[in-house]
Amino acid sequence: MKRLDPKEVLEGIHHADRRLLSKAITIIESHKFEDSKLAESILLGLKFPEKKSIRIGISGIPGVGKSTFIESFGMYLISLGKKVAVLAVDPSSPITGGSILGDKTRMNKLAENFSAFIRPSPSSGNLGGVAKKTRDTILLCEAFGFEIILVETVGVGQSEVAVENMTDLFVLLLLANAGDELQGIKKGIMEMADMILINKADGNNFIPAMNAKTEFENAMRLFKPKHKFWTAPVLAISSFEGKGLDLIWNQIENFLISAKESVLEKRGRQNQIWLWTSIKNKIDSEIDALRKSHLKISEIEVDFQKNRISSFKAVDLIIAEYKKNQTSEFV
Ligand code: GDP
Repeated sequence: MKRLDPKEVLEGIHHADRRLLSKAITIIESHKFEDSKLAESILLGLKFPEKKSIRIGISGIPGVGKSTFIESFGMYLISLGKKVAVLAVDPSSPITGGSILGDKTRMNKLAENFSAFIRPSPSSGNLGGVAKKTRDTILLCEAFGFEIILVETVGVGQSEVAVENMTDLFVLLLLANAGDELQGIKKGIMEMADMILINKADGNNFIPAMNAKTEFENAMRLFKPKHKFWTAPVLAISSFEGKGLDLIWNQIENFLISAKESVLEKRGRQNQIWLWTSIKNKIDSEIDALRKSHLKISEIEVDFQKNRISSFKAVDLIIAEYKKNQTSEFV
């Protein structure tokens, strides 16, 4: 297959060529060494529109209505003239090989709309690796011209932190009467939320949803506020009937006005976190590769297993081998 030229890919992304955007994401997600060089050149060459995008994290347990919500909220944003990209961080994907957005038919209308772009999460790697690739994919989508980036994750704990670390605003979807345990409502996740949506506030569920709204508003008061400038609103909505979407957008705009500089500061802090996560990932994979291929390291391992050397000595010797290889093979 013809190797892609980074210039051609960048041209494509900056001129809204969706085929090349998809290809660029595939390169970012690839584990091949030659692709990582190409990915680096692409990321380095990206140019961004002057107006900053809005990055929104969306979480909640399976069944809460995330895809129904993203479909209706995405279509609502498109009706306001916005371009919307939907990405996913799926902590289960390394195990199942699947992904939460794998089935695009869950978002039929968005999938067919030219102002939207849906990309499932990368299907392998640890959560840190998957999240890093999603973060790089956000950058590609922004350079392409998507103004609103929705990042979906399943409510299981760790992935919320990853998504919180790459978005400006974190939205948690909940249900009335589902039980806190069942919904995985842990204090930490509630505290992370900038907005809480009680979904399925329709039909027989309308009154329970309104009661849940009051309960969650009270519960949120007991937590330490995440921001000085913002109290997370609790809204009862129906993704199914499209009720409350305008209120959500209103609140997002209010949040951004209140947040002012702090969103930019947050992005700065996020960049720093990402820098160090990337460095650790890189060193990790280099050590892994070295371990598989390096005879001397296997000998040190055996010496340690047979108690011929201490753990301190083994660690020092392996790190010394790693550094030696840094100057020869890896640089
Ligand atoms: P996800 O697993 O969080 O992505 O949830 P889905 O979007 O797949 O929704 C799970 C189920 O809840 C589906 O049967 C949806 O039709 C239903 N659902 C989602 N949103 C609403 C809503 O606002 N009202 C009602 N009544 N049902 C909804």
